[in-house]
Amino acid sequence: MVGGNWKCNGTKESIETLCASLSTLELPSDANVEVMIAPSSLHATMTRSLLPEVYQIGVQNCWTGKGGAFTGESSAEMIKDLGIDWVIIGHSERRHLPILKESDETIAQKVAYALEKGLKVMPCIGELLEEREAGKTNEVNERQLKAIADAVTDWTNVVLAYEPVWAIGTGKVATPEQAQEVHAHLRAWISDNVSVEVAQSVRILYGGSVSPKNCEELSKQPDVDGFLVGGASLKPDFITVIKSYE
Ligand code: 13P
Repeated sequence: MVGGNWKCNGTKESIETLCASLSTLELPSDANVEVMIAPSSLHATMTRSLLPEVYQIGVQNCWTGKGGAFTGESSAEMIKDLGIDWVIIGHSERRHLPILKESDETIAQKVAYALEKGLKVMPCIGELLEEREAGKTNEVNERQLKAIADAVTDWTNVVLAYEPVWAIGTGKVATPEQAQEVHAHLRAWISDNVSVEVAQSVRILYGGSVSPKNCEELSKQPDVDGFLVGGASLKPDFITVIKSYE
């Protein structure tokens, strides 16, 4: 699976242009790769109408529970009602930006509620540079993954994204070996703590400076089941990244 996280980017005009390019991708309906595009919530409906059905649409966040007096938020029910299938939850920007600071608990609540309402969820985990340098990569990812795993009863609609924070938007992509090492560790953790079946079937995507130049090598790693792409998903040659899994 390949996801495009457009983050807080896009105008009507730039999205029309990008969707026109992406629409030219001839992805057969039985292709080996699922594609999900996550524009801003404001642009989600427009993007849905501009892309062929082979592209699934997601948003980048949702409220923790049922809607109501929560100014500025969007609930899982609203997302579902608009025909949007996916929601990214717990992206590192939401975990770490000082103005947001989402906790493991908040993220777990969002995951549980979105799944309950029938959305497909893409929870994100990943360590900071200082955590990696302190030898805490596995510890941090296990803690974040445990909070998510505790909130999930059925993994059918969950695709996990491992996004090391030091690789996001920095051009410093993880090496294929670094990505494989963490993905294999996460899968082993799931095998030990959830079930062998879930460990075998759950897709674990890598995110962080993925580009048309580095996607081929990363995609060959046995435990890297796809990508979650930021910057490079805003350009027409995002198609190259998608095709690395076709
Ligand atoms: P970049 O691909 O821009 O590094 O962003 C990755 C990301 O955060 C996707 O969710």
